Amino acid sequence: MAALGAALAMGQQACSLTPNTGRALDHYAPAAPKGGVGVCPLVVGVFPARLSGPWFTGAGIKNDINPVTAFLVKARGVLFLVDGGLVATDHMPLIMRNAGGAPGYELAGYATARAQLEQVGIRESDLSFLVVTHAHGDHTGAAEAFPGLPLLMSSEEVKWVRALLVPRSDAITWRSQEAWNQLLPRVQSVQWNGQLADSGLSTFDLFDDGSVVFLHTPGHTPGSMSVMLQTGPDQRTVLLGDAALTEKSVRQNIPSGLLGKFVDDDIRASERTLSVLHRLIRDDPRWRPYPSHDERLLAERHTFESCAKALLALP
Ligand SMILES: [Zn+2]
Repeated sequence: MAALGAALAMGQQACSLTPNTGRALDHYAPAAPKGGVGVCPLVVGVFPARLSGPWFTGAGIKNDINPVTAFLVKARGVLFLVDGGLVATDHMPLIMRNAGGAPGYELAGYATARAQLEQVGIRESDLSFLVVTHAHGDHTGAAEAFPGLPLLMSSEEVKWVRALLVPRSDAITWRSQEAWNQLLPRVQSVQWNGQLADSGLSTFDLFDDGSVVFLHTPGHTPGSMSVMLQTGPDQRTVLLGDAALTEKSVRQNIPSGLLGKFVDDDIRASERTLSVLHRLIRDDPRWRPYPSHDERLLAERHTFESCAKALLALP
C-alpha cells in the first residue's frame, strides 16, 4: 500500500462520480474498509487466427488465438466487473464483413460473462457496477446483459462516443448511436482527481485508499482507462484493457509492428501510454499486467470457478 501510495500524487478534489445527467454522486464507500482485493479473469470468447493474425502480429504474439477477457474484481467488500466481452447485437455482422466476410468471433464453448457468473452463484444484484475500460464492442458486451448496473467510463470516452458519426459509431464501437443512447443514461463518468507520478497520466482513486485506482491510458481510444489493483501485500495487478495488447508488448515496450493499426485514436498517445506502463512494471516487479487479449489468459479459463470462490470468500 505504501509503495502504491508513494507512486500516486493525489490531487485535492474529493472523490466523486458524476453521471452525465450532471448530478454528482458520493464516491464509493467501501463495504468492508479493511477487506482484501482480488481479481479473476473471465474468458468470454476468442479472436480466431484470421483476425488475430492481422491485428496482433508484431505485438509479441506467439499464439494465433487470442482471448476476449472480462475481469471479476472484489475490493474492500465491493464486487464489480471490468469489461464484459463481446457485443452480441445486429452490428456484429457488419464487423464480420469488414474482417473479410469470415465469421469474426468464436463464441462456441465460451459462455457469456453473465452465464459464467451465474454458474458460480453470482447474480446481477451482487455486483455494484461495470467498469468499461473503453467503448469497443469486445469490452462492452455485458452492458445490456446487466441492465441494472451503472457503467463507469471516463468522461473522455463518453465524449468520443457521443461525437462519433453514425456509420463510424457502428463500425468502431459495434453499437449504433441508438444503442448508445440507451446506455448513456447509465454512465457515471469518472472525474480524474490525481496523477500517476512522473507520467502525465491522470488517476481516480475509487475508495480513497489506493486499493483500486483508475488510470487514464489514452491512445487506443481517447478515454481508455486501466485499473490498478492492490491485490496483496507484495502484489499489484493492472488491468490494461487494450492499452497494451500483450504482456510482452508492455514488458518490452513494443509499440510498433501492426499495433498501430489497432489504434482508433492517436498512435503517438498510445506509444506514450505504453512507455509509462512499461516503466511502471519494469521498476516495480510486484506489478502483474493483464492486457485483455493476452494469450496467457486462455490458460486461466479453466480456473475461473475456483478463483471466483476464493474471491467471494474475501472479507
Ligand atoms: Zn479489445
